[in-house]
Amino acid sequence: MVVIGITGTLGAGKGTVVDYIVSRLQFKHFSVRDFLTAEIERNGTVVNRDSMTDTANRLRSEHGASYIVDRLFEQAAADGRNAIIESIRATAEVEALRKKAEADPNRRFLLLSVDAPVETRYHRISQRGSATDHVDFDTFKANEAREMNNADPTKQNLAACMAMADAKLDNSGSLAYLHAQIDEILAAYKPRPDWDEYFMGLCHSVAQRATCNRGKSGCVIVKDKQILVTGYVGSPAHLPHCDEVGHLFKQTVHEDGHISTHCVRTVHAEQNAICQAAKRGIALEGATLYCTMTPCRTCAMLIINCGIRNVVCEYRYHAGAESEEMFRMAGVSIRYFHDEVLQYKNQ
Ligand SMILES: [Zn+2]
Ligand SMILES: [Zn+2]
Repeated sequence: MVVIGITGTLGAGKGTVVDYIVSRLQFKHFSVRDFLTAEIERNGTVVNRDSMTDTANRLRSEHGASYIVDRLFEQAAADGRNAIIESIRATAEVEALRKKAEADPNRRFLLLSVDAPVETRYHRISQRGSATDHVDFDTFKANEAREMNNADPTKQNLAACMAMADAKLDNSGSLAYLHAQIDEILAAYKPRPDWDEYFMGLCHSVAQRATCNRGKSGCVIVKDKQILVTGYVGSPAHLPHCDEVGHLFKQTVHEDGHISTHCVRTVHAEQNAICQAAKRGIALEGATLYCTMTPCRTCAMLIINCGIRNVVCEYRYHAGAESEEMFRMAGVSIRYFHDEVLQYKNQ
């Protein structure tokens, strides 16, 4: 398990770094800002940069300097996935995280810092316009000076944290430049993927060919650790695709009265993989199917009758209970990569 801590100057692009590491490398995100927001809201105060700083400093002095990141690290360890903690602001936090990682040979901690020239950062933060960002240039610089240096290790000290970083990211250029730096740094830290990670990673590549953005899903069917067939969501061959002519929505009225909307233009990723096997004469008996989320009812029935024995889903589908029950009755195993429900519009 790799835990990345991220630190950096105000508006340097910590969130951009997090987005990339979460979406591309499937790290789970743990946010100090979200933790503090929840704490501030519990106390009924207004959420702004001052209340954030005050609350952070209060929690650190009451419970110990690394209290916030300790809680987030505990959540990350319980989750078990590679994690990124945003953001690290006190030197005591860096020391605590390093100590926790050293205590377990299966854990590695890496502190990344991100920086850019102050004018660039002010420009970015002005455009972002969140509740804590509406300030003039002088206030911005004053806020930063207050957070940059502090002799007390329990207080925010960005400069000292950045000096402790294992690697430094320069976000003064393009997004591609930033991403290339992250790739290079993490290549040395990311452990070799296990089989599940490997095949799920291939599902992501396959899914990039999907033509319905309602669910850009991909599917890979394997046996004895070798790929048999792949499939992605798309219209039947020679028919127009959703990204050319729009979705073809149909509504389903459920027993409890609620109505859900589905795009029916496409063949699902799992179905397309099964079709590919039928077209090429490849037996799927005893195979394992990797897919984006719990297969729908129709896909589940096809999977069972193909003789597929194992299903590995990246996420849960909010209405997957019926498929899970059918798999259980048919003796098909199903497990989840991430124990989360995939969210999308009008589900
Ligand atoms: Zn569609
Ligand atoms: Zn389906």
